[in-house]
Amino acid sequence: MITSAVPRDSAASGPTAVVTVDDRPGLSGLDPERLTAWFLAAGHPAYRARQLADAIWRRHADDVTQLRPLPEDLRGRLDREFRVDTLVSTEVRAADGGLTEKALHVLGDGSLVESVLMHYPARAGRRERHTVCISSQVGCAVGCPFCATGELGFGRDLTTAEILDQVRWAARHLAADGRRLTNVVFMGEGEPLLNLDRVLEAVSALADPLRFGLGARHVTVSTSGVVPGIRRLTAVGPQFTLAISLHAARDPLRDVLVPLNRRWPVSEVVAAARDHARATGRRISYEYTMIGGVNDTEADAIALAELLRGDLAHINLIPMNPVAHTPWTASPMPAIEAFADRVRAAGLSVTIRRNRGQEIGAACGQLAAEHAGEPPPEVVARRRERLVADSAAALRGERRPVAVAELRGAHTLAGPPVLAGPPAPAGERSP
Ligand code: SAH
Ligand code: SF4
Repeated sequence: MITSAVPRDSAASGPTAVVTVDDRPGLSGLDPERLTAWFLAAGHPAYRARQLADAIWRRHADDVTQLRPLPEDLRGRLDREFRVDTLVSTEVRAADGGLTEKALHVLGDGSLVESVLMHYPARAGRRERHTVCISSQVGCAVGCPFCATGELGFGRDLTTAEILDQVRWAARHLAADGRRLTNVVFMGEGEPLLNLDRVLEAVSALADPLRFGLGARHVTVSTSGVVPGIRRLTAVGPQFTLAISLHAARDPLRDVLVPLNRRWPVSEVVAAARDHARATGRRISYEYTMIGGVNDTEADAIALAELLRGDLAHINLIPMNPVAHTPWTASPMPAIEAFADRVRAAGLSVTIRRNRGQEIGAACGQLAAEHAGEPPPEVVARRRERLVADSAAALRGERRPVAVAELRGAHTLAGPPVLAGPPAPAGERSP
């Protein structure tokens, strides 16, 4: 544990706050082999590792006192070297009559991330479900202009334990009322495929019957289209559902809505997704946020239908959640229904998804930037004008340079966004 000055967002704690950084590794991030090796090296039998795993994964322990039946001296040693829980504290807010709960987690270095727990009561023969939407990074570097997380800019990658401890938090929270977590979606803060090693470690812990033990069908990883990452996931095999955040089927418009499109355009993203579906036999989920007058036109529906016709795919249409500092709002429901009908006419399966937790800014992917300071009004005004001009140009089919970083400069948690600016030449692409 070290104490240092860490830059924090100005609204929460002043421009520079001295915080105690707890950088001991989180126990949930250690795989069984490493855990067993640690116990053996410390002179303890291997069954102690299984007892610890039981406390972490079955009883969702968040404190060293909950590591019984391990003896006290062993608990003390574990406590000196590791953290039982990497979430220092969590604030919960409920919406939708308790059906949605937003959790704001404080991490060991003072960073803040959010997860959202959504409850779906049993209906029409379906069992009740409890889905947690988790973050893979603090903030996000991609900078989609309709997304509150994109506005925050990039903070840092989460560790494997920080990702998994959000899931354990949700499981613990549910267990207090005798309920069980059924689904995990990587749709919170961050671009999971830009933190792929940690996300893959977390996914295998979720799937491992000796750890979290969630079936592959119950985990969804969502990406804005990091093609090399999708290809790596395909090589790993069918461990989860892949969701692609498409939002536009035409490049000029997708350049504006998902700036990463300038590196990996629609055709490359869909080709990689198609290969994934072919190799894994799993249907791809396409997410399409409906933005009034921007991506909900008849031409967009036709382009989407043509793009995905015949694919092993499902399309989710999501009315845009209100986000501060954008000139846009959700498409009206009749426009969404007309769009859905047109895409269905091409034989594609389409669902219109209901928003969750709007009054607390808690729908997945719209994790509020409320803890960041308010940017200056002239920056907000400039951004709005830019977005209106860019999307209007896109509707005319023009591709223009996209300025996405302006506002994020005012919100950045730590350091500049890594993907701001024009696309790098192919050879310099990151990751
Ligand atoms: N970065 C990843 C995962 C997190 S975002 C990705 O983009 O896929 C999860 C989903 O929420 C994405 O489909 C994203 O586009 C969507 N989203 C973001 N902001 C939204 C908003 N204001 N309204 C509706 N959906 C939004
Ligand atoms: Fe990042 Fe996803 Fe938000 Fe885009 S939609 S800024 S990729 S979190």
